[in-house]
Amino acid sequence: MKALILKEPGAKPDIRVVDSPEPSLTSDGVIIKVAASGICHHDISVMDGTLRRGTKTDVILGHEISGTVVDVGVDVKDINLGENVVTTLTSSCGVCDTCQNGRDYLCDYGHGYGHGIDGGFAEYIGVGQQNVIKVGNIDLEQAALLACPIGVCIRALTDRASLQSYESCAVFGSGGGLGIHAAQLAQMITGNSFAFTYSPEKVERIIELGIEQTFLLGDGIDSTELIMAIFQDEGVNVSFNPVGSSMIETAISSLRYEGRALLMGEVSSGIISPNLSANLIFKNASLIGSTGANKTQIQMGLDMVVKGLISPVIGQKFPMDDISQAFQKIKSRETIGRVVVIPWA
Ligand SMILES: [Zn+2]
Ligand SMILES: [Zn+2]
Repeated sequence: MKALILKEPGAKPDIRVVDSPEPSLTSDGVIIKVAASGICHHDISVMDGTLRRGTKTDVILGHEISGTVVDVGVDVKDINLGENVVTTLTSSCGVCDTCQNGRDYLCDYGHGYGHGIDGGFAEYIGVGQQNVIKVGNIDLEQAALLACPIGVCIRALTDRASLQSYESCAVFGSGGGLGIHAAQLAQMITGNSFAFTYSPEKVERIIELGIEQTFLLGDGIDSTELIMAIFQDEGVNVSFNPVGSSMIETAISSLRYEGRALLMGEVSSGIISPNLSANLIFKNASLIGSTGANKTQIQMGLDMVVKGLISPVIGQKFPMDDISQAFQKIKSRETIGRVVVIPWA
């Protein structure tokens, strides 16, 4: 089969389309013909060498995977040929204590797809039955977004930050893949979410998704002052920061007493020295890292999409042969939501 592998990470990574052996079927696994794969900042970080630890040699990238089951192991229950599915973000055993406690994304024996083991930038992928979620009839390109970014946002806002219906939430980087789904989810939970973006062309679309309180940040605007003016000096209960260090000061200074700042990604790699006393200590506030999603949260994402509560936002799609163009689009941050790639037919 054709697959896109990472031969050598670096500033100019060596990525190649190769003829790779088809995955072999295990008795408790399935083979999926990949329909679409989302491109995540995680893939970029693996490619540029920022994330090196545990990366498989010649790894097939991609962990946001949807497709159709084309082969089923003899011990597999309740998954049939021809069914549309998505995968979890990591493999898991399903039986260790961590899996049994609903934290399958941290399985003691698990590996990240597109990182520790091969991922979805290929014609086929083989996964264990415990790593499959059936998606019914929903569009398979949209389904590729169910685990990451949608499930990841659900875990962060509900599990990690415990966002409550009577609270408020500020989402930064709200035109990006994580941000645009977090903003919808926060609005669904609270009815009082605020979206912030640096991209004027994305504002209208974010408002169309139901986040009326969308604001444009920009050069020359003190984002912290703007936010405190919007919040009438009170601040929000939860802030969602998928950008990293460049927004951390703004994200923690926008919190109210006992607020929680979610840190979801680091795209800027800057060195920061935020005012921790004023913004965290004297507010009894928390800074919370979050990654991953368990099967239940991916299933919740599916249910929300089916009910029309959350729209998966795909800014652009590319055939796998145009992957370099797709990466350029992501780096330019021009595209709203996720970029997906479609493997060879
Ligand atoms: Zn992802
Ligand atoms: Zn396990």
